[in-house]
Amino acid sequence: MRIDVVTVFPDYLAALDLSLIGKARQAGLLDLRVHDLREWTTDRHRTVDDTPFGGGAGMVMRPDVWGCAIDAVLDGDPAGHLVIPTPSGEVFTQRHAEALAAEQHLVVACGRYEGIDARVAEHYRAAGRRVSEVSIGDYVLNGGEVAALVLVEAVGRLLPGVVGNPESLVEESHGAAGLLEYPVYTKPPVWDGLEIPEVLLSGHHARIDRWRRDRALERTAQRRPDMVAALDVARLDKHDRAL
Ligand code: SAM
Repeated sequence: MRIDVVTVFPDYLAALDLSLIGKARQAGLLDLRVHDLREWTTDRHRTVDDTPFGGGAGMVMRPDVWGCAIDAVLDGDPAGHLVIPTPSGEVFTQRHAEALAAEQHLVVACGRYEGIDARVAEHYRAAGRRVSEVSIGDYVLNGGEVAALVLVEAVGRLLPGVVGNPESLVEESHGAAGLLEYPVYTKPPVWDGLEIPEVLLSGHHARIDRWRRDRALERTAQRRPDMVAALDVARLDKHDRAL
C-alpha cells in the first residue's frame, strides 16, 4: 500500500520511522511518503493560507495550493483515495481503518489554521474520486498531523505482515466480536499484593476462553454500553446472555 501525507510540518511525521510502522516501511510493506505542502506554492513567501471570505477569525488554507499538491501526489492514479482529517468529519473507527487498509493508495491532506478551503473536497468528489473527511474524535487539534499519525498507524498495522503475530489482531478491542478486550496480565504472578486471576494459571483453554469472553462482555457493558447495544443478539450464546 502507498500512503502520501501532505503537510506544512513534515517533521511531525518523523515518528512513522519508528517501531512497527518504521519496520513495515523498511520491509517494503508500506510505501509511506511525506511531502511539504509548501513545495507547491509559487510566491516568495511560500504562502499556503489566506483570510476567510465572509470575515471572521483565523486563516483558511488555499485550494489552489492544495489542488496542485494533491494532483502531484495522486500522479494520475485512479485508485488514489483522498483522506482529509477534520473535526467536522465522520468519526474514525476500526471499521474505517479496515476499509482503508483494503485500499491501494491513500493521500492524507493535513489541514492547519481554520482548515482547508471546502472546495478541495468538493472538487475531487465531483471528479469521481473517493474522498473521506474523518475526525479522530470530538475535540479540536491544531493540525491534521496527529490525525494522520493515528490514521497511518491504525491502517498500517492491519496490512499483512506488519504485526508479527496476526492472531493478536483477532481478539482486540473493536474487533469482529464487537467488544473491548478482556484484561491482560503477565509476570510476576503477584505484584504489590495483587494476584492474577487463578484461571489463567490453570492451563485449561476452554475455561480461559470462557473467562476472557465474560470479562470482555462485562468490561464492554461497564465502559461502552453503546457497543453492547450494537451487538448482534443472535451471535450471543446462552452464557453471554445470562451475564
Ligand atoms: N475550524 C475547524 C473546525 O472548527 O472544524 C478546526 C480547524 S483545526 C484548528 C485545524 C486542522 O486540524 C483541521 O483542518 C484538521 O486537519 C485538524 N484537526 C483538528 N481536529 C481534528 C480532529 N478531531 N480530527 C481530525 N483532524 C483534526
